[in-house]
Amino acid sequence: MTQSCDTLSGANGGGCGVGLTPEQRRVLRGHGTERPGSSPLNDEKRQGIYACAGCGRELFTSDSKYDSGSGWPSFFRAIDAGVETTQDSSHGMIRTEVHCAGCKGHLGHVFPDGPQPTGLRYCMNGIVLEFRPATQGAGL
Ligand SMILES: [Zn+2]
Repeated sequence: MTQSCDTLSGANGGGCGVGLTPEQRRVLRGHGTERPGSSPLNDEKRQGIYACAGCGRELFTSDSKYDSGSGWPSFFRAIDAGVETTQDSSHGMIRTEVHCAGCKGHLGHVFPDGPQPTGLRYCMNGIVLEFRPATQGAGL
């Protein structure tokens, strides 16, 4: 599967994943999926912001992270301007794909079996998230 950088670099000026590892590129640009349980972010409990590894856009806050037991970092709510969704009918299933609103990189999928208040489960590839711990005392 080849995907041109030209269609993805967009207006953010971030280029085509400069500085990304091949595995990050495989997920972000090639709609790949990381191995469940492989992300250290599964156990991340600190306060902070989860940003896109491709362009730095803020996607999720630690307030909406929960332990879904799926092996992937999971959130019940995204930052409104952070992500966009599209219908994905690959692999014989209809799923809702989640991508970054900034660089359009693939992040994961959203499922309707999450906890209240949203009932949503944003099932993310931790490898394409960059955790930024909140600075002590500075608030969010
Ligand atoms: Zn991005």
